[in-house]
Amino acid sequence: MKKEKFTVKQFHEKFPDDDACLQDVLEKRYIGVKECPECGRHFNFYKVKARKCYACAFCGYQLHPLADTIFHKSSTSLKNWFFAIFLFSASKNGVSAKELERQLGVTYKTAWRMAKQIRILFKEFHTEQLNGTVEIDETFIGGKEKYKHADKKTEGTQIICRPSKSSYNGF
Ligand SMILES: [Zn+2]
Repeated sequence: MKKEKFTVKQFHEKFPDDDACLQDVLEKRYIGVKECPECGRHFNFYKVKARKCYACAFCGYQLHPLADTIFHKSSTSLKNWFFAIFLFSASKNGVSAKELERQLGVTYKTAWRMAKQIRILFKEFHTEQLNGTVEIDETFIGGKEKYKHADKKTEGTQIICRPSKSSYNGF
């Protein structure tokens, strides 16, 4: 079943700011997690002000959704990253660094780095698809099965970002 195209307008409605993007990463990464990995009480995490992490409402244990993703330690805003990936996934012929520079209003150097990382990500995604090693869902950032049972060990392990092949429907 063919889904409708995810438009630029829909993108900005869904991801108005960095917090909305971060929330999306959190939800995709900890999908199915019902309990705090630390205290075991039900999953109730709030965003820590001015930080890119969430804390358990009961024990204060912190989750860092961006750890081990291409967004981690990047000075580029999360929304810019999301929009860049959106542009890539919406384009059949790829996106040049020059185009990213123009669309995002970042420096050419930043745009070039982003484009490089996104291309690697897309390539990995397609390779995995071909090998059939990863079950393809429609999500952009999906944790592997093991992340659905988050515990302390998951911090520091690799997360696979899965760009939707042709659109942002997965968001
Ligand atoms: Zn807790």
